Amino acid sequence: MLTQEAKEELIRQQYRVVGEHSAVKICGWTKNMLRGRGGCYKLKFYGIMSHQCLQMSTSLSCANRCMFCWRGYKAPVSKEWKWGVDDPAMILDGSLAAQESLLTGFGGHDEVHTAMHDQSKEVKHVALSLTGEPIIYPRINELLALFDKRGISTFMVTNAQYAEQIKNLAPVTQLYLSLDAPNKKLLKKVDVPLFTDYWERLNKSLEYLAEKQQRTCIRLTAIKGVNMIEPENYAALIRKGSPDFIEIKSYMHVGASRKFLGQENMPLHEEIIAFTKEILEHLPDYELVSEHIPSRVVMVVKKKYKKAGEWFTWIDFPKYKKLSLAGKPFTTDDYLRETPKNSLGISGKKTPTKEESIEQRKQQKARQLKLVKKAKGITVDESTQELDFYNEELDDEGC
Ligand code: SF4
Repeated sequence: MLTQEAKEELIRQQYRVVGEHSAVKICGWTKNMLRGRGGCYKLKFYGIMSHQCLQMSTSLSCANRCMFCWRGYKAPVSKEWKWGVDDPAMILDGSLAAQESLLTGFGGHDEVHTAMHDQSKEVKHVALSLTGEPIIYPRINELLALFDKRGISTFMVTNAQYAEQIKNLAPVTQLYLSLDAPNKKLLKKVDVPLFTDYWERLNKSLEYLAEKQQRTCIRLTAIKGVNMIEPENYAALIRKGSPDFIEIKSYMHVGASRKFLGQENMPLHEEIIAFTKEILEHLPDYELVSEHIPSRVVMVVKKKYKKAGEWFTWIDFPKYKKLSLAGKPFTTDDYLRETPKNSLGISGKKTPTKEESIEQRKQQKARQLKLVKKAKGITVDESTQELDFYNEELDDEGC
């Protein structure tokens, strides 16, 4: 799948290529969490422990060339799978080994929280989203079963161009579908798809997403001046996909996307909130529930997940493991967990200015050192609700 030149470029960028078509890279949030600087927004929204997360893809190739894609090398593109098919067990073992070797250097670092570094050796979550389109790997369901067996929960992101693969996909802990434009013409401009029937593929994918029984999420990457228009059309597409969750997230001006977009295309957090409210005017079954300002992202949730006045958006991971291994049908409702109170709410705070960011960084550094010192030997996992670890950090680099 990759030329020697592309492989070398990936390795230079701290990727590790596994077999012929898979890759691993340590997520920026995994590093942040190990340094006590905060976990990703998926910790706040769903309870993912960022320091125990494996970020990978099973296909470096994709059928789109999205203008906002930040992964920094010229990825292969193709409509069909035309490579050898690696063994799923090899991909799993190779990916875990690559993650461990990439994290080894962190061990002795002063800023690193030692107990968390030890925990990071036990991967509990995989984000199948690093680059490319993971769903087109022909043996993806076998790989998902192996993750289930190991008790590793699965988040998978798909670009909505392979509807049949979505239909036939085995249960994943949370399935993401990217929705990058509210109309056909703009989708072509934003995603630059290889398929000519890209709009039909998106619509079919939404239909199949609505049939999924486990957790689903539609992700909008909002690009100021490009796709923050027609909220009513976004709402109509979202209704078709009927996801449990919606994430509306700012485009980040990083990596390869800088060739096509400028800083000015990054909406501020307050602009994300305002646009979300416009979409929500057309979605009476959903509510704006939480935000993560460093990532300029909000979580919108189906109202039915508010039970007796409390929100249930976190994942009960042990239950998911049991359910996925039992081989019987199960639904989102079967592995919900109550969201901690300090993960909820919209603060009204804005994106910090440059000066505020510098000041925050100084304060953060002091807090971080204190936290790492204090935390020596303590255990941090999804049952402790040790949420000091996500409220920090100013940049965003993750899935
Ligand atoms: S941003 Fe994605 S890859 Fe990074 S820690 Fe969070 S879930 Fe894992």
